[in-house]
Amino acid sequence: MADSFGMWKKMEREAGVTLLRPHPMLAVGEDQSIMTKLATSVRKGGSEPILLSAGDVNRKYGTNFPAHCHGLIDPSAGVLMADKCVQTLQRLFREAGGRVVDEWPVQEVEMKPHGEVELRGPKGSVRTARIVMCPGPWAGPLLAKIGVHLPLQVRRISVFYWRIKEEDTPTISFVDTREFDDGHNYGVPLLEYPGMMKLVHHTGPVIESPDERDKIAASTQHRESMKQYVKDNFPTLDPEPVVEETCLYTCTPDLEFVVDRHPRHPNVIFACGFSGTGFKIAPAIGEDLCNLALGRPTVRDLSVFSADRFKAKSKM
Ligand SMILES: Cc1cc2nc3c(=O)[nH]c(=O)nc-3n(C[C@H](O)[C@H](O)[C@H](O)COP(=O)(O)OP(=O)(O)OC[C@H]3O[C@@H](n4cnc5c(N)ncnc54)[C@H](O)[C@@H]3O)c2cc1C
Repeated sequence: MADSFGMWKKMEREAGVTLLRPHPMLAVGEDQSIMTKLATSVRKGGSEPILLSAGDVNRKYGTNFPAHCHGLIDPSAGVLMADKCVQTLQRLFREAGGRVVDEWPVQEVEMKPHGEVELRGPKGSVRTARIVMCPGPWAGPLLAKIGVHLPLQVRRISVFYWRIKEEDTPTISFVDTREFDDGHNYGVPLLEYPGMMKLVHHTGPVIESPDERDKIAASTQHRESMKQYVKDNFPTLDPEPVVEETCLYTCTPDLEFVVDRHPRHPNVIFACGFSGTGFKIAPAIGEDLCNLALGRPTVRDLSVFSADRFKAKSKM
């Protein structure tokens, strides 16, 4: 993250656009060890966390977190403008001589003699000497075609937006580290829909195929539990979501990424399973994917992201 932070800032300077809006982030939780870890990580990034009691948090933000919770503000946090980031990256890539091809779905991937990779789709075929594959939620079936089998689960996430009752209420970027069902909740301040705060449960049901995501009815139970959460903790919000969108997380069993090369074809590199947390670190991961593809040493130790870690350990 520390590397990516500098790279996003560099990209802003090069492109002359603002991509990262500084926005202190509040973390709340009941587990002191999680809060200590967060504080260490903020300090590692060069900032001093502000530690608060639940009472302090509630007075400052009009929230209603239980008295036994602890609060922490990370003053160095920010929100990336995702659409603008993607547009800017594509523009810089084009300006550097790259070509962006949209609407070219790859249906088949095949290793050819002499190590070339052939991609085939409804629009034809392409052969390449090296490839970096990052197919997001479609990674499982696509990588399986070249013999890479990863235990990826695609989860459908319901993204809810809640109306703020009174205009001048301070809204926050926050993460609630308590476990609700099987994951925590997080929120982003007023940046997308005017007058609405985004508040999301960081997990959701596993779906069979990413193409099906909008065909499956949203879970009422999930919606109801988020409504209760808002009612209990955010009296400043109307506890009836106004907008509900869906998105997909591609999760690994340990929620860490997979960044590796094909065990038999070193010219095939892949990165996937970002488990809902991959956007912000894209510049650093991208730099090392490039290094892998060009056969250069990586800047970071990627062994923690190896695909091998999911292989059943031998009992011998
Ligand atoms: C609502 C939401 C909130 C999030 N919030 C955060 C956050 O706060 N912080 C954070 O760091 N991350 C966040 N994430 C997660 C982050 O967006 C992902 O981790 C990241 O986008 C994963 O990048 P990726 O390149 O692996 O996959 P993707 O971004 O999904 O890109 C995969 C690309 O591959 C293309 N593709 C797939 N199959 C094929 C094929 N067969 N042929 C051709 N192209 C193909 C797709 O069209 C797509 O363009 C969030 C995600 C969602 C949905």
